[in-house]
Amino acid sequence: MLFNLTVLFGTLVAMEGVGTLAHKYIMHGWGWWLHRSHHEPQLGMLETNDLYLVALGLIATALIALGKAGHAPLQWVGAGVAGYGVLYVLAHDGFFHRHWPRKPRPVNRYLKRLHRAHQLHHAVKGRTGSVSFGFFYAPPLKVLKRQLQARVPRDRG
Ligand SMILES: [Zn+2]
Ligand SMILES: [Zn+2]
Repeated sequence: MLFNLTVLFGTLVAMEGVGTLAHKYIMHGWGWWLHRSHHEPQLGMLETNDLYLVALGLIATALIALGKAGHAPLQWVGAGVAGYGVLYVLAHDGFFHRHWPRKPRPVNRYLKRLHRAHQLHHAVKGRTGSVSFGFFYAPPLKVLKRQLQARVPRDRG
């Protein structure tokens, strides 16, 4: 049991790394056509960007099925992937973008920093030049602001 829980939590932590890299190199790379909707004003309840969540769900389901078919502990890796998906929706859709009727406010420094860092991620509209690609870890805001200033070309002055 302890081993399974370790696999589950290890997967959750590893998924932040996977998520950050996927956001930076896939979603802002060749997968931009799906993620783009998320960097533009939202029209309805759903965005093409949500397909990434569907993909995550499919991967989690496949891992759990493989684990159940005798390839333990893949079902716990799958549970970690699914858990990360749920946390992502809560943090990103609920807390960062406040898509829900109840609007949670950042209550401590960690959450404030995460929230602000994601606003800075959205400060850049296009595919390139964005900062802070993680969802549960954000570099210090000073660093992000410096990165933004260095990357965004100034059109005035
Ligand atoms: Zn993005
Ligand atoms: Zn966002």
